[in-house]
Amino acid sequence: MIDRRTFIAGAAVIAAAPLDLTAEEARNELLLTDAIVLTMDEQRRAFHSGYVWIRGDRVHRVGPMRELGEVPRGVKRRRLSGRLIMPGLVNCHTHLASGITRGVYDEMPLEVWFAKGMWPVLDAFDARSSEIGSEVSLLELLGNGVTTTAVGEIGSRHPDRLDGVLTAIERSGIRAVVARMAMDSADDSNPAQFIPEGYRDTPQFAADEVRRLRKRFNSERISVIPEALGVLRCTPEMIQAMHAVSREADSLFSMHAASSQSERDESRRRFGHGSITELERLGVLGPKTLLAHAIWLDDEEIQLLAARGTGVSHNPVSNAYYASGIARLPELLTAGVRVGLGVDGASTNNGQNVWETMKMAMLFQKQKLENANFGSAELALELMTRGGAAALHMEDRIGSLEPGKLADLIVIDTERVALTPSQTLISNLVYSPDPCAIQDVYVGGELVIENGQHARLDRAAVVARARAASERLLKSAGLDEYLRTRGRWRWE
Ligand SMILES: [Zn+2]
Repeated sequence: MIDRRTFIAGAAVIAAAPLDLTAEEARNELLLTDAIVLTMDEQRRAFHSGYVWIRGDRVHRVGPMRELGEVPRGVKRRRLSGRLIMPGLVNCHTHLASGITRGVYDEMPLEVWFAKGMWPVLDAFDARSSEIGSEVSLLELLGNGVTTTAVGEIGSRHPDRLDGVLTAIERSGIRAVVARMAMDSADDSNPAQFIPEGYRDTPQFAADEVRRLRKRFNSERISVIPEALGVLRCTPEMIQAMHAVSREADSLFSMHAASSQSERDESRRRFGHGSITELERLGVLGPKTLLAHAIWLDDEEIQLLAARGTGVSHNPVSNAYYASGIARLPELLTAGVRVGLGVDGASTNNGQNVWETMKMAMLFQKQKLENANFGSAELALELMTRGGAAALHMEDRIGSLEPGKLADLIVIDTERVALTPSQTLISNLVYSPDPCAIQDVYVGGELVIENGQHARLDRAAVVARARAASERLLKSAGLDEYLRTRGRWRWE
């Protein structure tokens, strides 16, 4: 039997007389036309002049203008000539609350980091300041065209920090996978990995917190997941307990892993092998695991990541900020590992500029390999869309513009100076990035950013709140004096 919808779709293709939609149906439809369209689908189809037809929260149809055919009357249309439409960007790693500690950690001496930078900051970071810091990061991410982000926040000491972060995420409209990060190791043999007693969760408490947060915040856009911070900062019991909590809801399970050379060395000393091998031994590499960093891997560990379907967030700018090494991106890709890109938090990057991350993901490899031919702008864009979707195990819903997938997409103004000339537009997007070119951002068909402005979050108010919260936080951690005196210039 042919129902009304099938008939409408068929009618459009064979260019029959246009049909009227009911007012109710028309409200649900939006047709974006006359734009350059990058689908990022399996064949990487791209159209010089194309359309994206949104129905509800999904992509209904996408294709070149010449195949649009007749459109039922009542469908709202937006003509986007001079614009490019592509899938929303997928950021695989960040920490949102640290939006109010941006710039604090630049070249911070280790003794300052231990005395003031780490634990006193976490002492001072309550639910409200976490919410305010998150708003800063979220405005930046969405403004850059990120429609899905993975997030991690430490929940011990102030368990309601997560409530603050998740409240900001809900308000922002972004799609997010939000990890409550737990740690419990009492091992004090390495000061960089040591966890003070007040920050150690029990596996039971951490699991109950994930369940509580899931119940309060899980929605069509938000998924709360468990994270065991790392193999050196967590006991095997904590790692396996957090993995088990993810399995009970079929959610992601995340960790920071192989993040530095010292972590690898310490892991070899404690376990006799690297951290990925240890995670395999604990049985937690799959089926829906997401690892941040994964820099220091041996060949067998790369094969393990591929075999278990583990997702990896490659965070090149953050890795460079702490001089922690350059990940083996070509080997990961050749092995077929699910690789996406991440910016990491403002305390390790410092911006949430995913365009810079795409560029650096290519440049660092060229430099490391001493091969200017490595990579491409296309590869960088693929990693930030369909690659990220695969790393987050969400490739059935996001990462490309295809009928039935979520209508997460961005509109880019291609007439910006930095994107000129147009013959090299794809190169310019990545190698001459201009986040201000992001004009509109749709999440699930909802226009969240319009002409660079967030629909609900007032930029001036967010900035004012962030300044006040940052001042309180730095004073409380004893970092205000350090910041005032760390530069060499004479300020008057
Ligand atoms: Zn991180």
